[in-house]
Amino acid sequence: MLKIGHEVVRPGKGANDAPVTIGVPEELETVPGIPTNQREVDWYAREYPIETMNITERASRDWANALRDQHVEMREIRKEHDKLNRSLIMAARLTGDLEPTDEPTGEDVTELIKTRARDLGFVEVGITNFDIRYIYQSKKDWVKFPHVICMAYEQDFEPTQTIPSVDAEIVHSSTYRTEGAASLELGNYIRSLGYRAQVHSPNDNTGAYIPMMVAAGIGQLGACGYLLTPHVGSRCRIMMITTDANVSYDQPVDYGIHAFCQVCQVCVNRCPGRALMRDKIWWRGIEKNKLYFKRCRPVMARYLGCGICMKVCPIQKYGLKATMDHYAATGQVLGKGTHDLEGYELEGKGYFGPGELPIFEGGFFDMPHGDAGEWAFDQFKDKARSQGGEVTDELIEQFKAEMSRAMSLSEDNIAMMDQDSDYI
Ligand code: SF4
Ligand code: SF4
Repeated sequence: MLKIGHEVVRPGKGANDAPVTIGVPEELETVPGIPTNQREVDWYAREYPIETMNITERASRDWANALRDQHVEMREIRKEHDKLNRSLIMAARLTGDLEPTDEPTGEDVTELIKTRARDLGFVEVGITNFDIRYIYQSKKDWVKFPHVICMAYEQDFEPTQTIPSVDAEIVHSSTYRTEGAASLELGNYIRSLGYRAQVHSPNDNTGAYIPMMVAAGIGQLGACGYLLTPHVGSRCRIMMITTDANVSYDQPVDYGIHAFCQVCQVCVNRCPGRALMRDKIWWRGIEKNKLYFKRCRPVMARYLGCGICMKVCPIQKYGLKATMDHYAATGQVLGKGTHDLEGYELEGKGYFGPGELPIFEGGFFDMPHGDAGEWAFDQFKDKARSQGGEVTDELIEQFKAEMSRAMSLSEDNIAMMDQDSDYI
């Protein structure tokens, strides 16, 4: 039995469940939250502010969506989701201008807000300072209030275990819609307490959410690039509400995840795109396993959104308490090496058990890069080059049409986007 270094007590999974105590083995202790160099975070935020990949990698996003739309079922699911989700996104955008509906009592309302959030179905809730260093350039004038309520909504267990699949994609979209509606309800509640509340839709992100989730103590960053929460690991969808309410802040927690991922490595070993990094690096002032985006997106685009790194994570499947208890008792990673945890099927390619990975044909990872304007210009240069440097009227007309499309996209680029905060 490994020596337990410290214990973390968290509220139970359901609103009425008893609290859970998680023993973190001494050998997995690092720091609360994530190792951070604040001066570097400041410097990067100032000199290289972040922007959503829905803009910076728009060309590959459009390419991926076009590929996904070749799958008839997926196209219908996406259309339906966009239709149902639009009103939730539009409603969330207006919430910052809504006035409180009652007078505040002056009391600290932290517990009232957390209780209401959990009654609405959020599995994790924490509160911290809204950190402007993680806001997207395109959203920097939107956020109005200083405190942020960080929340995670559980995605159903069964369909998630079938990843990558149509069923898993359906539950992925519907979880976003359910939490989108619940958060509007929570916003109304905060206004009834006498304060303002701005809902950041999970499909219209205002920044990189994970650093604030970690600061609010509701999880730690996993090697897969997702937030790992205590009860459901990465099997949740995160979102936040900013507010001027009278609240108290939570603190980051050392759940042992930062070190455990280096022992576990299941997602790193099982990723079909070999897109996850074994070792940690320092990136924008944070020590983390960095995702190779260029190796992930082509797999996601062709295989139903992939997500295998979520499916094979023991914390997703068994919860952090069971995973840590097993590690403390045996020194082993729960489920590692089993078909149940590590196996997956890729449509048209077959089943891959522990130790087996698919091989992709040449050109599989080729995709457009940059924003839509950069990609249009790259295409223009390539075509001119292939014509011996001659720039014909036809080529100029094509380029004009592409640039006009790119500019109209950039006007609409704040709308209806995928969540990309997992990939900071
Ligand atoms: S989504 Fe798939 S390809 Fe991307 S990192 Fe996860 S397992 Fe790898
Ligand atoms: S599969 Fe293992 S290494 Fe990957 S995120 Fe989960 S716990 Fe960390």
